[in-house]
Amino acid sequence: MEKYPIPMVPGPVSVPQEILNVAACNYGSADLEKEYVDLYVSTQKALQKIMRTKNQVVIQSGEGMLALWSALKSTLVPGDRVLALSTGLFGYGIGTMAETIGCEVRTVGFGFDESIDDFELVEKAICEFSPKMITMVQNETPSGTVNPVDKIGALKEKYGIPLLYVDAVSGIGGSDIKVDEWHVDLCLGGTQKCLSAPASMSFLSVSDKAWEIIEETGYVGYDALQPFRFAVKQRYFPYTPYWQGTAQLHKACELILKEGLAKVVARHIKVAEYCRERSLGMGLELFPQPGAILSPTVTALCVPAKMSWKKLDESLRMRGVVVGGNYGCLAGKVFRIGHMGSQADMALVKEAMDILESVVHG
Ligand SMILES: *Cc1c(COP(=O)(O)O)cnc(C)c1O
Repeated sequence: MEKYPIPMVPGPVSVPQEILNVAACNYGSADLEKEYVDLYVSTQKALQKIMRTKNQVVIQSGEGMLALWSALKSTLVPGDRVLALSTGLFGYGIGTMAETIGCEVRTVGFGFDESIDDFELVEKAICEFSPKMITMVQNETPSGTVNPVDKIGALKEKYGIPLLYVDAVSGIGGSDIKVDEWHVDLCLGGTQKCLSAPASMSFLSVSDKAWEIIEETGYVGYDALQPFRFAVKQRYFPYTPYWQGTAQLHKACELILKEGLAKVVARHIKVAEYCRERSLGMGLELFPQPGAILSPTVTALCVPAKMSWKKLDESLRMRGVVVGGNYGCLAGKVFRIGHMGSQADMALVKEAMDILESVVHG
């Protein structure tokens, strides 16, 4: 299916016309024109507001995974110790990524249906292992759960751990993100989730400490962060910037800030509550355990026992609804409703839930 009548996939989400429009034209060369630098700076400032940080924000051409890789490769060298706090596919996956760089990785793992909740265990691992970096995921998209970054940030501060790396790709623009208050050094985001722009750009906030380590590390490559440090000042980007993509990201931020960050977050919470209520009402089971923190941007549900995921997906698609399946050990067992960004819309979610109900009961 090329176009989704009722899009409920947890990224890429449906892009509003206003955001599509700003890419439907020619721009000058981003390498030559001052207007591009102005747009870049203005987008950095908007993202700082959305992420609540004074740290510099780097914007790159490429989707979310680029931010995940560039932050790891720009700060880590073989042998560095990385503590990977993991509650799902992305959390465990980031640990594996650090291993491929040659780091010594220790994983503090929880169930895929849990949030990080044993802080003594985490504290013990921090003390014993003394990592250079702690990694974690703020919003585990495949599991529909949130992790308490504030608590881990406080532990990072207490023990003077150099770097806290947070994948917030599916949380930024749909939930409260407090980079500075939470002491996050590298906070990673993408355009195709709550920001409701195409999967074209990624961005991350970089703390002073992180810049220091990036300079020490000296990583060189297409995904290196260092060349972005003085790119604006020197008016020199490491490769030709994607003007259309930056314009779309800028428009996406503008729409969020115009609506008001608090209102946007409240809209996500309200729609998520509604989605869960309806799901439970039709006899579906939430995937996260009762103690887990539930995501305001995506709801993960168990595929009902009487129906295969294939059948559920086919029946929903026949009626125009497309939801997210899952990956790895959750494939076929857990499906997801992405009520993030443009899809955190009560009327849209209601329509989707009505159809889901008729399919589940049919
Ligand atoms: C979607 C997602 C990513 C990867 O983003 P892409 O745009 O697919 O590269 C990383 N982390 C989380 C938590 C995500 O939801």
